[in-house]
Amino acid sequence: MVAAVECIDVSTLRLAEYALPELAEDAVLLRVHRAGVCGTDLEGIKGRRSLRYPVIPGHEIAAVVEMIGSRAHRHIRIFGRSPLQAGDRVTINPRIVCGSCHYCQYLPGRQEMCLRPSTYGSSLGSAEPPHLLGGWAEYLYVLPGSELIKLPDNLSDDVAVLCEPLAVAVGLVDRFQRNHDWVTGDGFGVDRTVVVYGAGTIGILTAAAFALAGANC
Ligand SMILES: [Zn+2]
Ligand SMILES: [Zn+2]
Repeated sequence: MVAAVECIDVSTLRLAEYALPELAEDAVLLRVHRAGVCGTDLEGIKGRRSLRYPVIPGHEIAAVVEMIGSRAHRHIRIFGRSPLQAGDRVTINPRIVCGSCHYCQYLPGRQEMCLRPSTYGSSLGSAEPPHLLGGWAEYLYVLPGSELIKLPDNLSDDVAVLCEPLAVAVGLVDRFQRNHDWVTGDGFGVDRTVVVYGAGTIGILTAAAFALAGANC
């Protein structure tokens, strides 16, 4: 059996157990080594953000590939040296874009614009098989359309679990360093003053990302 922390209602967590799901041809099964607690997980559990109950929260993970469906390589994008093999260490892009909305069709590189994304640990609930669609469980079932990022050997699980929040921080720096973006309205170019407000995970990583990008702190 697979143990999972499940949120079944506002502020109500329980320990759930599921049988290891049967793996479809187009899916991958990961064994989760580390799972982060995101601010959005806490907001969701407290009912300040919508979650699809019941749901296994968590979308920041460091994991190992346990099993790979025979056709998964056609349906799951791998960043890093392909092909994906059992035993590879990976993290996941928690968002699956719909592929059919206006933005997916005309701005396929801008995943944040998708109008109907699915997200592990929040909009992908655990009511129906394969159930294990959140990081706070021993295993994560990776659906077709997902993206897996291979982790280098010299990156420990403790650090690798920060990949997703770091991607948020780097994405922010990237967005705001651009010149004005006609799609999103953000971007103010280089040589400006930035205030990072709040010293949580995202705030600290954002300050670090600005520093790495050359900001005088
Ligand atoms: Zn997060
Ligand atoms: Zn879309």
